[in-house]
Amino acid sequence: MVTGYVYDSLFLEHDLPGHPENHRRLERVLRVLEQYHLLERLVPIPAVPLSQERLERVHSADYIARVGRICQQGGGHLDMDTYVRPGSYDAALLAAGGLVEATRAVLDGEVDNAFGLLRPPGHHAVRTRGMGFCLFNNVAIAARYALAERGLERVMIVDFDVHHGNGTQDEFEDDPAVLYLSTHQYPHYPGTGFWNETGRGEGEGSIVNVPLGGGVGDRGMARIFREIVEPVAWRFQPQLMLVSAGYDAHWDDPLAYMLLSVSGYTDIARMLYELAAEVCAGRLVFTLEGGYHLDALAYSVLNTFAILLGDEKWETVDPLGPSPHAERSVDEIIARVKQVHRLRE
Ligand SMILES: [Zn+2]
Repeated sequence: MVTGYVYDSLFLEHDLPGHPENHRRLERVLRVLEQYHLLERLVPIPAVPLSQERLERVHSADYIARVGRICQQGGGHLDMDTYVRPGSYDAALLAAGGLVEATRAVLDGEVDNAFGLLRPPGHHAVRTRGMGFCLFNNVAIAARYALAERGLERVMIVDFDVHHGNGTQDEFEDDPAVLYLSTHQYPHYPGTGFWNETGRGEGEGSIVNVPLGGGVGDRGMARIFREIVEPVAWRFQPQLMLVSAGYDAHWDDPLAYMLLSVSGYTDIARMLYELAAEVCAGRLVFTLEGGYHLDALAYSVLNTFAILLGDEKWETVDPLGPSPHAERSVDEIIARVKQVHRLRE
């Protein structure tokens, strides 16, 4: 397989020392990819800054101008969690533009699949404001590009970040062209993503939320992918699969209470890779969202790239090992989501 990646040193300019979403996340990812000689096997996809037209498909002109103004004035905060520094506007435009380029490269057949190693992340950002460490909603912008400029009719977004992607759900909840499926801890930040949020109007049924109590680990998540994500994808028949890849459901991540391991994240990547091969000719684009334990993040991304490359001899590298805690059952939530979305046994 030919696998592309997007990275630019400008993504490091969005930075606040001491904040969990800082430049060291991407630095660690790059270092581990180099150490295991994977970077040299990947095709770099140059990021280009997003045009205003593409940005305004997802964000209001007022909000965009506000972010630009705060940067020019030396930085500040959009909310308690979400900082803006002088370089943040340009970094955010390049991140979103980079993911559009990755999507373009996959749709053009230049690469088979791709991963955007981007910052700032995007899935919490809504039309009129940024929140939850996110400035512009990268994955929503990429999906809108595929629909508006490439003529796609069905795009699926899978979001396995431990937090619910409220911004992405907001953007597409009345749009049947985009199926948004999220697994996340619940109740937890940002508070949305209960199973009864299923879309509105014409989009009814196109939002699939799998809210999970803390303590779900590798086995539970693998079952959720087999019993919910796969049948939902088969039914929807996407032409492209975008993945909001957050690694903050790792058992040692400081921001949540889920029990995934690096191996569990590798299994998720493998399931998505196989699923995309079956339902959408392998068109698969990952984008980085959260993940705040640097090694859990970096090694999960490393193994994911090996999967995307179709590397059959690859042995999962997991220096952190399995979760030391007991896993919670997912029987009840699987039954509930299957019932709500009328998925057969
Ligand atoms: Zn997150």
